[in-house]
Amino acid sequence: MEAIKVLVRVRPVESHEPNVVSISGNNIISIDSSRFIQCKYNHVFPPNSTQSEVYSHLSEYVTPLLNGINVTLMTYGQTSSGKTHSMFGRDGRIDVDAGIVPRILKEIFDGLVNTRSSNVVSVAMIQIYNEEVYDMFDKTMRPLSIQEHNGNVSVKNMGQYKVDSYQQSLALVDLGLKCRTVRETGMNHASSRSHSILQIFVEQTGALGRKITSKLNLVDLAGSERWGIYHDKCQEQFNEMTNINTSLSVLGRCIRAVSEASKEKLIELSSPKKVHIPYRDSKLTRLLQDSLGGNAKTCLLATINPLARYGEESISTLRFADRAHQVMNLVKVNEEKVPLDIEVHFLREEVKRLQNLLEKNGILDEHIIDDRITQNEYYHSKTPERVYRPTRTSSFMGDVRRLQSPDTISSRKAAQQVFNEASAEKLTEANLNVQYEEKTGCSRKSMSKDIIKSIFDSMKTLVDVLDGNIDEEDDFSALTASTSGRETMRTTHSEELGTPSKLGTLLKKRVSLKCKDSSFAENKLLQEIASAQKRRDKKKKLRNWLLEKEEEVEKLLSLNDF
Ligand code: ADP
Ligand code: MG
Repeated sequence: MEAIKVLVRVRPVESHEPNVVSISGNNIISIDSSRFIQCKYNHVFPPNSTQSEVYSHLSEYVTPLLNGINVTLMTYGQTSSGKTHSMFGRDGRIDVDAGIVPRILKEIFDGLVNTRSSNVVSVAMIQIYNEEVYDMFDKTMRPLSIQEHNGNVSVKNMGQYKVDSYQQSLALVDLGLKCRTVRETGMNHASSRSHSILQIFVEQTGALGRKITSKLNLVDLAGSERWGIYHDKCQEQFNEMTNINTSLSVLGRCIRAVSEASKEKLIELSSPKKVHIPYRDSKLTRLLQDSLGGNAKTCLLATINPLARYGEESISTLRFADRAHQVMNLVKVNEEKVPLDIEVHFLREEVKRLQNLLEKNGILDEHIIDDRITQNEYYHSKTPERVYRPTRTSSFMGDVRRLQSPDTISSRKAAQQVFNEASAEKLTEANLNVQYEEKTGCSRKSMSKDIIKSIFDSMKTLVDVLDGNIDEEDDFSALTASTSGRETMRTTHSEELGTPSKLGTLLKKRVSLKCKDSSFAENKLLQEIASAQKRRDKKKKLRNWLLEKEEEVEKLLSLNDF
């Protein structure tokens, strides 16, 4: 359980009117003596705070997001208090005085570069205007409906666009903001009359098929001003106001209900339905359901205008923020549980792939090819040196093959039979486990664990084999150094090079033995170097890949719920 983080930003104003807001310390704010309010927040930003200072309190959400946790960042406050400015940038533009959105997008893409899994990032932008939901990229302005599937609330037919880079995501958001302006002109309303939600979906798939997904909601709420301010406006504005107030007041009621339930610890995984939270009373709260007492890390940035005439509004914003601070969310990683059998399947597939890689791309067998080269018309050598170790390699290949053969584990056939029957009879997981144990003589978990362990061991062997055969950096530089120019070729012929590598020695021997024409020999040597480099790169890549695998398998084996 963790509380919603609440930040308050006081916007700068140029006015002769008195400024009634005072901040003491980092997190206490009060508004003049007649309308005094004092609350504790996580942080209060004074009027001279920069966009980067604000973001420095939000960048902590990137790591959880990339680890499969949903995050919601929301701005709340009266019109012109700086919500859109904080969220996107000056005057609602992402390219001027960058706000939270461009900064967090940058960090997300930077962060993904360092993860080893393959990932897909996609973007959606929706807007809630007069209690109707619109896709901000859809110029037809068709209202969309909300749907719920397995407890997940989403917008039906909402456009979700895949983006491959920070620049692409920014361009898309910029387009969404422009479409928003078009719609506003069409509907004759200002940006602060609608709630906008920018959603970033991150999906990451690890090498073992584990999938983690997370969603970032960036919510720019409509202005929270009270009835009185618009009493002289037209019917349309009156309607807008009613709808905004309805959704914001439902938001307030949800927050109050969740904060009270949180205090009494009623919102727990074991008893989520004990309390009624009126999420369904507005589209906004339905869409933000997860972020309010649900499965998300949530942060509210409350913005206020410090002028005396907005005192009432500021007080109501601060009260709202104070209540939000009491809301507790239950945060969990959105990970698709992969059944152990599937994990085993993935590992087997990896081993198969590895074997193909070895055989087809000739990672190890390239040395055999080397030997073949020595027998061709250019490199007849009476004593061809064999770089690879046949016994070790073949025994490893044997290991790999045995792992794939049906008799590796004696009870595998029995296990397969259990699975076939299980799928025919639609057995429950528990029954399947019992049958498995009865027929194979060992538990399904320990069987899977054994298989994983043996595959893991063979991967380790492979890493060892590769380690033994990989040419070290020094070897390679010795070899390349030996060929820089004809001068060096002569040295090569006389075999007077310092301390050459195994591969270096081999090549030099071949070249000096067989090539009378030194320029031809030089060419051949350069070709050998190029192919050695390719081989070395391949091996390096493969070794890194295996080390990654090793880590993943270790993680898998250490899982408690094994
Ligand atoms: P809101 O979205 O809350 O209605 P805006 O973010 O659109 O308000 O702000 C209204 C105007 O005030 C914009 O021109 C914006 O650039 C400016 N503004 C708001 N907050 C700040 C700030 N902290 N520093 C500089 N300008 C600001
Ligand atoms: Mg705005």
